[in-house]
Amino acid sequence: MAEKILIVEDEAKLARFVELELTHEGYEVDKAPDGRDGLEKLESGNYDLALLDIMLPGLNGLEVLRRARRTVDTPVIMLTARDSVMDKVTGLDMGAEDYITKPFEIEELLARIRATLRSAKKREPASHTLSVGKLTLDADRYTAAWDGEAIELTQREFALLKTLMENKDIVLSRNTLMERVWGYDYMGETNIVDVYVRYLRGKIDDAHGVKLIHTVRGVGYVMREGS
Ligand code: CA
Repeated sequence: MAEKILIVEDEAKLARFVELELTHEGYEVDKAPDGRDGLEKLESGNYDLALLDIMLPGLNGLEVLRRARRTVDTPVIMLTARDSVMDKVTGLDMGAEDYITKPFEIEELLARIRATLRSAKKREPASHTLSVGKLTLDADRYTAAWDGEAIELTQREFALLKTLMENKDIVLSRNTLMERVWGYDYMGETNIVDVYVRYLRGKIDDAHGVKLIHTVRGVGYVMREGS
């Protein structure tokens, strides 16, 4: 499948030129002409990489990056017209992977895109696969397994298990679990967390003779290995 690249750039001619080059290289390309549209698209998490101009109408590129980093870790290459050290440093500090100064040679941009995509791929497995002992969870494929054997989970059970595994060794209160798994506006029974923990224990702990999901009396639950 083609890698998807988002171009956030208000100079239409430049955006179009880069789009044509990237399409020619086999990438799938989407464009955003201003900061707000760029942020919205970036937050969708649908891109493998984004090229982000700094001088943008509405919201500048640094602000787009700052806000986007709260929710997504899409690799970003900043485009800057000014040869400003401050912009580059600020961009990198905010989590941009790289920057390129305009005007740039398209070959250099392509090389940086390839390098950034390569290093993003290397760190990908760690961020999407969770494991505790023999229990593994693949957040991209919505699957969980014990020692490689699939565990059938409902959507809610999966979300609860993922939250527990992401916070391995950290005690989570019932309220926290409720908010993260059921959402702030959940109006149902408050013991729903206990009910679902029971379901999970049946499928994981009891089914495999282990104890991973521990009750912390008066507080909530924690996933950990050992007692
Ligand atoms: Ca611009």
